[in-house]
Amino acid sequence: MEQDVLLKNNLLAERNRGYFEARKIMALNFLSSPGSGKTSLLEKTIPMLLAHVPVAVIEGDQQTTNDAERIHALGVPVIQINTGSGCHLDALMVNRAVKEMELKDNSLLCIENVGNLVCPAMFDLGEAKKIVIISTTEGDDKPLKYPAMFHEADICVLNKTDLLPYVDFSVPRCRENAMRVNHHLEWFEVSVKTGEGLDSLAARIKNLAEHR
Ligand code: MG
Ligand code: ZN
Repeated sequence: MEQDVLLKNNLLAERNRGYFEARKIMALNFLSSPGSGKTSLLEKTIPMLLAHVPVAVIEGDQQTTNDAERIHALGVPVIQINTGSGCHLDALMVNRAVKEMELKDNSLLCIENVGNLVCPAMFDLGEAKKIVIISTTEGDDKPLKYPAMFHEADICVLNKTDLLPYVDFSVPRCRENAMRVNHHLEWFEVSVKTGEGLDSLAARIKNLAEHR
């Protein structure tokens, strides 16, 4: 049963990917535990990108439309997918959302997945890259506890570095744990609150969008 679900998902994800490639849309899948700051990261980073590339957002959330409203306030197209009891987005949800949106050619599509580090790792949405976000208020062993997610991810963003003086979190140990799971992982350290590190992350995303 589960294999069948994943197989169907993969086929549809490939169709999404073909569509994105044909229209030169850079699709990024943002993943994290609840509360790591995905929406805030998008809120702060998108305005830094808008001068260079049109941006649209798909917001995955189990119940509320709060995150979509925050993104909408930036003036970018956003569509909310409420998954209800579902704990991940799948390729069909993204396929339907994309059909409702008027995505521009040569644009950037940010997909904020449901806050969960487990099954979203298994569901390909057709994105070009997966960006996993962890924060310093979580354990620095998170990459070891959720290896599938860190193995699948292309970029890891450590958020809330402004809290480092107050929390028991070792950045070198976390990074080492992440690299042990996936030595290709690109590593960024940011504080969405103070803005520290966001320049380099935005530059990397801009670079991805330009080379789609
Ligand atoms: Mg959110
Ligand atoms: Zn799930």
